[in-house]
Formats: sequence, C-alpha cells, structure tokens
Amino acid sequence: MSEHQEIDAPDFAALLLATGDDALLIGSVAGETNRAAHHGNVLVRGLLEIGNRCKNNCLYCGIRSGNSDVHRYSMNSEAIVESCRQAYKLGLRTFVLQGGEWPADDAMVEHTVAEIASLMPEAAITLSLGERPREVYHRWRVAGACRYLLRHETASECHYSCLHPSSMKLSERMECLDNLKAEGYQTGCGMMVGSPGQTVETLCEDLKFIQLFKPEMIGIGPFIPHKSTPLGVFPAGSVELTLRLISIVRIMFPLANIPSTTALATLSPDGRERGLMAGANVVMPNITPVNYRGDYQLYERKASSGAESVEGLDELRNRVEAAGMKLDFSRGDFKKES
Ligand code: SAH
Repeated sequence: MSEHQEIDAPDFAALLLATGDDALLIGSVAGETNRAAHHGNVLVRGLLEIGNRCKNNCLYCGIRSGNSDVHRYSMNSEAIVESCRQAYKLGLRTFVLQGGEWPADDAMVEHTVAEIASLMPEAAITLSLGERPREVYHRWRVAGACRYLLRHETASECHYSCLHPSSMKLSERMECLDNLKAEGYQTGCGMMVGSPGQTVETLCEDLKFIQLFKPEMIGIGPFIPHKSTPLGVFPAGSVELTLRLISIVRIMFPLANIPSTTALATLSPDGRERGLMAGANVVMPNITPVNYRGDYQLYERKASSGAESVEGLDELRNRVEAAGMKLDFSRGDFKKES
C-alpha cells in the first residue's frame, strides 16, 4: 500500500464542501482505506495529563496562563511512572504524556522518560508538551521518547493570530515540527475544526500543509469553547465537518495513525465510534489519576470518564466491537509498509 496519496489543492475545497452521494462516497472510501491498512484494529494509547501549568496564553485553551480559575498541578516523576505502570498492567503499550508548556519541568520529564523506558522497554512513549528548543527535543528523544504530538493548529498566519497572542508565531510552531522530524520522532500535527476565524480556505491551507509535511500521526478534533477564555463565546465546531476531515486525511495517508479524539466523543455520544468509521484508527483513554482530571479542562465538560477513561476499558471494547472493529493493545508504531 502506498504511504500517501496526493490530492490536488483545488480538490480539497470540493472534498470539504461535498454533500449527498459525494459525501457518502468520501466516507466509504475512507472507511475502506482504513480497513485495508489497519484491518479493523483500533490502537489504544493511554493519555496521561502530567500537568496544567502553562506559560502560554492561547486564546482557546482552558489551561492558558491567563485563566486564574484553574487549580494548577504538576505530577511528579514517581506519580507519572506509577500511572504508566498501572496502565501497563491493564495491557497498554503506549503512554502519551501531555501537558502545558512548562520549561521548569524539562529535566524532570527527561529522567521520567528514561525511567519509564527502562522499566517498561516494550512500551512506546509519546510526548505532547508543546514548543521546545531543539536541544530539549533531542534530550527527550535520547531518554527514550519516540513520538511527539504538536498540532500545528492552523497553517494560515492570519488565522493563527485569531487564536494566539501576538507573542506566539506560526513560524516557530512549524520550526518545532521540522525539528521533531529531524530528531527522528514519529511526529503528529493537526488542528481543531471550527475554531474562530477558520474558513474553507484556511482548512485547505491545513490540508496542503499536511500533504507536504507527511506526518506519521494526525490529530483532528472539534473546537469546544471554554467560558474562561477569550474565545469562550464562540460556538463549538461541527461534528460532521470533523468527520469529513478525518476521512480526507485518511484517504491522503492510509497508514497514518489518526485518533478519534476526546473532543469528538465529548460533543456527540457516539462521536468516538463515528470517528472510527470515518477513518480514525486510534483511541486514547485517559490514564490521569482521577483527582487531577477536573483540573485539565482544555475545554468545558471534557470527557474523562466512561469509555474515555482507563476505568472504562470494557465499555470502550464493547463500543468499538459494536462498530465492527477491535481494540489493539500493541505499541502501534507507524508502519511504512503494510
Ligand atoms: N500544550 C501542548 C499540548 C496540550 S493541548 C501543545 O500546545 O501542543 C492539546 C491540544 O488540545 C491542542 O493542540 C489543541 O488543539 C487542543 N485544544 C486546546 N483547547 C481546545 C479547545 N478549546 N477545544 C478543542 N480542542 C482544544
């Protein structure tokens, strides 16, 4: 199977705007592409929210530095390792350590990654800790992290400035993505759907960027407002458009690892299953200690229980099987060839 399928830029808009039979066709081609590449297997990754301290002030994000309503926490190394061990006992073989941008924790992350890697060498460690100097990405890579998620959020300069304070630059985020690839990480980019200022044109820019960047992972979920942020008055993104984007990127990248995101499951009771049917092949149940989950609210009512949590693995299994797929507990590295 080829690693990616080129689509001409003008066709992106047609794919995004398609209705009726054309829309159904896009969904079914994406579903078939997904089955041919991943055989109905849905990779399970444990999401560990290691801290909500953040120096950034992104206009959409509930844990932005300007939100003084947040009770801030940082998990320590022992707690992070213990959460991973618990998840390991349940069979999980990928841990995704996510959090705000908090450089004071860089050294702690480095030795924690090394410890997890030495205690559980069969497991993969993914990081999602924002923009860092290349040298920090390098140290984390050497310590044992092999994947990194850094959504580009938008590939349009103008749209980027609707979502971020002027101190943050799209070029810097893009440079981080290049550095991650250069350091040998399996790298994930992606965007929210329906974020304020987004248009069909900006989404086409996103798809063009993704086509050129060739990520190993692509994270796409709906924007959901958080009342304590400047963008809290805007409506949530569309579930339908999110599903369409998942289908488009699946057709473009048959082998990419694409999650059915928590945001999708938060907006719609069957959002997770619909994401999988639309082309996603990854689920990320929450493995954060329950006492911290309420403090990691990127957006309001973020799902972190039931099938979105490690306590709900049986429910997750049942739901995925009802959708005609099955959970896969392997490490699930990006495979160049199927
Ligand atoms: N700080 C890290 C990772 C944490 S946020 C980083 O910057 O990469 C993880 C992702 O959650 C973000 O990339 C963003 O796309 C998403 N997110 C943040 N706020 C959101 C909101 N209000 N609605 C939907 N998704 C949101």
